[in-house]
Amino acid sequence: MATPSYNWVSVDLAALRHNFSALKAWVGHTVQVMAVVKADAYGHGLVPAAQAFAAAGAETFGVAEMEEAVTLREAGLGGEIVVLFGAPSMAAAEVVRYNLSPVVFGPESLTALSQAAVAAQQEIGVHLKIDVGMGRLGVLPAEATAMAAAIQATPGLYVAGLLSHFPQADLAQGGTEEQYHAFAKVRDAVAALAPRASLAHIANSAAVLRFLNTHATMVRPGISLYGYYPSAVSIRPEVTFKPAMGFHTQVLQVKEVPVGYGVSYGHRFVTQRPSRLAVLPVGYDDGYLRSLTNRAQVIVRGQRAPVVGTICMNACMVDVTDVAGVTPGDAVVLMGESGGETIDADEIAGWMGTISYEVLCLFGSRNRRVYSGAADATPGKSDC
Ligand SMILES: *Cc1c(COP(=O)(O)O)cnc(C)c1O
Repeated sequence: MATPSYNWVSVDLAALRHNFSALKAWVGHTVQVMAVVKADAYGHGLVPAAQAFAAAGAETFGVAEMEEAVTLREAGLGGEIVVLFGAPSMAAAEVVRYNLSPVVFGPESLTALSQAAVAAQQEIGVHLKIDVGMGRLGVLPAEATAMAAAIQATPGLYVAGLLSHFPQADLAQGGTEEQYHAFAKVRDAVAALAPRASLAHIANSAAVLRFLNTHATMVRPGISLYGYYPSAVSIRPEVTFKPAMGFHTQVLQVKEVPVGYGVSYGHRFVTQRPSRLAVLPVGYDDGYLRSLTNRAQVIVRGQRAPVVGTICMNACMVDVTDVAGVTPGDAVVLMGESGGETIDADEIAGWMGTISYEVLCLFGSRNRRVYSGAADATPGKSDC
């Protein structure tokens, strides 16, 4: 049994299944949904999250690196696994062994992949990445047909899909339509020389929600599967997501201090009245970043209370003067819902000066996770 710890992250698997089903319904039955589970499924836990999406009908999964793909296969996950950052030459044999779909963005590992495929008397279907404006991985549109032809001419390899990525689909400004147009042009040109390139995918959550003409044959949502709109302009009231992650701790000590009392390192908070402070055993080592100092709020006894004073490595203080009856051992919600109050990753991201994505990755990776909402194990029984 795990040693009990003060802080824990809750992950609601039923919410993950709900979000997948909501997105699937939104894009319709002609469009496939690749569940993006990179970064330990945005902090929710790679294997449990992928299994939850699979239970809701996911058949394709996107990871960043080979190690994640191998972990999923060893946990028994079926379906297609696309390795978004490609396979290094040294991992070519594992691509074949685990039946993975690597993204290719240049000539780098083609020789190794080819040798591994030929040695195993198998073929590897790769997804060719085009850079239509992200300035990250991929070949430029002008180089795409030559690259596709090179893959087709390499023994054991073929182009199974084309992909790209939008840099600004979550922002008010334009660009996305033009970038999609460039992608579609490449797709049409490549189709003539790579007849098995049946998949085309470019839409992240923002494009899934905002640019319906960019869904192509498959979409690649991440953040929305975890319960969040990618940005304010992406909000679609007709698609409702449920945040799956909560972050919890408990009160360690409660004490009365006089007016003018300095709190924590640097005395960056000084009481303006006689105050009651609650000490929480959570700090920046747990992902509750120092930048939340004098900004964050928590929920205790169903009420919001402000975090006061510098956040320490493993502790922070909350002003509970206005919350009646707080006692050591009381449950504290750092992120989540309690007594009708809700603090979500968007609000915390605002305090931190970042985006919900980073908040989920931080909390999820730094804390013990506790899962709820597992699907009924009865074979054939659907959850939704
Ligand atoms: C992370 C990622 C996604 C998912 O993006 P969201 O904004 O979380 O929906 C899709 N495609 C690629 C290549 C990614 O790296």
